[in-house]
Amino acid sequence: MRFYLQQSLHVGSTIDLSDEVIRHLQVLRLQPGAQITLFNGDGCDYRAELHSLEKRRAQARVSERLAGLAESPLRLHLALVMSKGDRLDWALQKATELGVHAIHLLSSERCEVRLREEDRRERKLQHWRQILISACEQCGRSVLPALSAPLSLAEHLRTHSRPGYILDPRADDALAAPPEHAEIELLVGPEGGFSAAELRLAEEHAYRGLRLGPRILRTETAPLVALSILQHRYGDLG
Ligand code: SAH
Repeated sequence: MRFYLQQSLHVGSTIDLSDEVIRHLQVLRLQPGAQITLFNGDGCDYRAELHSLEKRRAQARVSERLAGLAESPLRLHLALVMSKGDRLDWALQKATELGVHAIHLLSSERCEVRLREEDRRERKLQHWRQILISACEQCGRSVLPALSAPLSLAEHLRTHSRPGYILDPRADDALAAPPEHAEIELLVGPEGGFSAAELRLAEEHAYRGLRLGPRILRTETAPLVALSILQHRYGDLG
């Protein structure tokens, strides 16, 4: 079992496990002596032995440092307009499993999610971050994808634009040629799609329109299809 801990890990040291990990250990009914794997996002896995497990306190002793899974040579950024319900949670989980390098949350003209109050935004970010952590625990990644706080599409393009594609069911181009860079971004719209002005703005920032087949995909399906195709052709899938 792999568990994420936000602290430095050293072979030979005994460490206190976090509340989240303790809860998880309890659910799994692990007993002292159990072998577990810890990671903290530094790219390594740490083998450890569970030392003690009480209601609110648990300790493990780190015994070995191992190279973690290599990250994909294709650094894929997903810039995704937020959607309601659990669709976004689902997309974040699957994007992590597919090896996304970074996720940028966006609002746009037709975005249904408003996160005006600071504490609500913080709580949501914490929730999404926990989804990335759980996905990494499950899929074996030792590096968490970066997650940036929501920005409007315009602000994102102004401050963070990089080579990439804007996914649009009406674009002329399908993915034909390999991407020209090893670090690229995919912009994905909300259920209502991008407006004409937004598509223009992205094109002004050199994003290329990209169509994924003849059918309209849901906002949570489109990133998975695009990430899978790109990782398969130019990254580490397959
Ligand atoms: N009602 C919208 C569809 C939105 S689908 C419209 O007709 O435009 C949500 C998002 O998924 C889109 O903004 C786009 O970024 C992406 N998407 C869905 N289907 C796609 C396809 N076939 N090709 C490329 N992108 C697609």
